[in-house]
Amino acid sequence: MDMPRLNTLPLPDSARTAYRCLRGLYRGVRAGRNWLLNVLDCPVVVLVYHRVAELYDDPEMIAVAPGNFRRQMEFLKQHVPILRLEDPWSDRPGPAVVITFDDGYADNVLQALPILEEVGVPASFFVSTAHLGTNQVFWWHRLEAVLLREGTFPARFELKDPRFGRAWATASFEQRQALYAELGMHMRRLDPDRRDAWIGQLEQWAGPAAVPADLHRLMTREELQLLAESPWAAVGAHSVSHTALAALTEAQQREEIFSSKQALETLTGQEITLFSYPFGRKSEYNRISIDLCRAAGFTRAAANFPGQVHRWTDPLQLPRHLVRNWDLETFAAELKGFWTR
Ligand SMILES: [Zn+2]
Repeated sequence: MDMPRLNTLPLPDSARTAYRCLRGLYRGVRAGRNWLLNVLDCPVVVLVYHRVAELYDDPEMIAVAPGNFRRQMEFLKQHVPILRLEDPWSDRPGPAVVITFDDGYADNVLQALPILEEVGVPASFFVSTAHLGTNQVFWWHRLEAVLLREGTFPARFELKDPRFGRAWATASFEQRQALYAELGMHMRRLDPDRRDAWIGQLEQWAGPAAVPADLHRLMTREELQLLAESPWAAVGAHSVSHTALAALTEAQQREEIFSSKQALETLTGQEITLFSYPFGRKSEYNRISIDLCRAAGFTRAAANFPGQVHRWTDPLQLPRHLVRNWDLETFAAELKGFWTR
């Protein structure tokens, strides 16, 4: 679901060169500015993970292999103070990192938690509640199961939607891959009913697709309780249906924010004070989301854009850096960049 890469856009060479120069200039200025801010106040870098698992197919690139995850945690433990998201950070002696997980996949408890406990690293886990303890998977796995599998497909898919009717060529795998990326971006911003209707149309069009539910399942209620009881874990909310909040009405946002908090409090018996915005880019939540998080009693809310946390950063819009399935060398190099990127 990334943005199209520059080399796939139909641009003349001169425009590409100009774009690269401007991008390089912007990054340089931004790094210089962030370096200066770090002199004024020690930065905290918040890392975001989603899954710790060996996946054969990972089109979202959100799974980190257990071996890489262990090496990343051991490296952090050796080289930088690791704080808890829920703690006050006012008296930190120098730059520090915070570990977070989004979504609530079962592998967070089965794979990541034992490593965190063994290495001695605290982490916060943001859990979406709609599919918790069920055998249903997130909508992007259904989309993936329909479009990114082998087989013969009709040559064309026509989406019937009163506000977004369109048709795509779908005979080749590359065409279906492009459709997967395009629909994925649109579907982030649909309310759950409309999103289900789109997926229903796709499933009807392509024939039934086997979704590997066990591979992508979320935590059971017992696993969530196990997580909540660990001294190394804090549980936070991540909405009910995992929809970009900015696409929803105020009443729908209220339901997503308040109900997920309440459900997790009932299941864990703990007060839930942390939240992370689904998808979390600046365009995917809004002022209403922030105000509702404050009204619900969340003390910190994590977003999903790069940056560093300082004492002047809005605690309800914390920037985070996404970690991929990097070996130790790549992780160390990327981490270096996270202090100023
Ligand atoms: Zn998420």
